[in-house]
Amino acid sequence: MFRFLGTSAGEQYPGIWCNCSNCAESRCLGGRNIRRNSAAHIAPNILIDFPPSIPDQARDWGVSLADIEYLLVTHAHEDHFCPWYLRWRYFPKDRVLPPKGDEMGPLFSRPKLLHLYGNEVVLRDARRWVGDDPRAHLLELHRALPGQRVDLDTFSFVPVLANHDPSQECLNYIIMVGGKTILYATDTAWFLPETMEIIHDFRYDLVVMDGTFGFNNSYDATAPGHSNFHINEEALRLFQAHSLLKDGGQFVITHTGPHHAPPYDICAPLLKKKGLVLAYDGMQIELQGR
Ligand SMILES: [Zn+2]
Ligand SMILES: [Zn+2]
Repeated sequence: MFRFLGTSAGEQYPGIWCNCSNCAESRCLGGRNIRRNSAAHIAPNILIDFPPSIPDQARDWGVSLADIEYLLVTHAHEDHFCPWYLRWRYFPKDRVLPPKGDEMGPLFSRPKLLHLYGNEVVLRDARRWVGDDPRAHLLELHRALPGQRVDLDTFSFVPVLANHDPSQECLNYIIMVGGKTILYATDTAWFLPETMEIIHDFRYDLVVMDGTFGFNNSYDATAPGHSNFHINEEALRLFQAHSLLKDGGQFVITHTGPHHAPPYDICAPLLKKKGLVLAYDGMQIELQGR
């Protein structure tokens, strides 16, 4: 089970400082028209990205962060990674459970060991809060490298290079879990050639793609940054033409900003005509490709 915990771009939807007509309308409409920063949960124990409101997002959709064992971080931009929360995992070695009640510390129960995968900047930012002994925070930090597959007990993944911010090695992830294959591709502009090559090695039950700039076509979407709906449509056609989507495979757009796409209730039907599905916060995807 894959669930979107958040589907907006950095400024969120409505934009936190904006009263334009899209932002104002989304505030009136509420429901699916309200989007928080992008993140996703793959049950039971995988999280993709860790935005500033992740405690609320997880709680709203019934996810206990203490049960998460794998956190795949796409990149260190603040809307995707808020490492400050990691400090609250500190768990003294000599902590006796159940606690007597007079102990100090942020936890009275033992969270599962968390394996965090990310680029160099993500790991550096995490260390800022957990120091040189991540184990004291029941945390293991792992560098994720583009093209280097990681095989774990219950799932595997391949990080691929995103076309996003050349100042750090931004990643997208191909995730194989329970016989299903997912491509999680935000944040990215049009796929880099080396990424496209790896993408072609798999067939997908679910593709999740960056749609930040919506209907805005007046920029070069092959330059590092973000995608728009036109690029999403081109990607869908390419996935279809190369049989990269399994039968029943889904192609879903996330990380949508408020200034080039109307609120969800208006936007989703427009995208449906293009064969694209617009994600909303809390949306569950049953992986059913064959
Ligand atoms: Zn972002
Ligand atoms: Zn970003």
